[in-house]
Amino acid sequence: MSQNEKDLFLQWAIVTPETHTKVACTCPDCGTVFSKWFQNHLVECDLDKLMHEQTTECSACVDERLESEEWEEEMAELREEEELNAKFFGRSMRTKGGE
Ligand SMILES: [Zn+2]
Repeated sequence: MSQNEKDLFLQWAIVTPETHTKVACTCPDCGTVFSKWFQNHLVECDLDKLMHEQTTECSACVDERLESEEWEEEMAELREEEELNAKFFGRSMRTKGGE
C-alpha cells in the first residue's frame, strides 16, 4: 500500500469532524430520522447532500432488506428444485398422495 493509498484508506475509515460531515438523514422506507457521517466530498454540493439526506436507509431497514433478499434467493432455489422434480417425475411433489 503506498502512502497515498494509506491516506485515502484512513480518510475513509476514520470519521472525524475535519473529514466528515454529519448529515440528518430521513429513511425513505420508514421515515426514521437519524444522523450519519459522510465524507466531506460526498456532501460538498447541496444537491448531493439532499440526495443522501433523502435516500439513505436507516440500519434497521438495510438489515431487513438484506434479510429479505437472502430469503428470496432461498425461495427461488426451492422453486427451481421443485420444477426439476416436476420435470423428472412428471408431477409436482406436492400433488403426490392422491393415489
Ligand atoms: Zn428505515
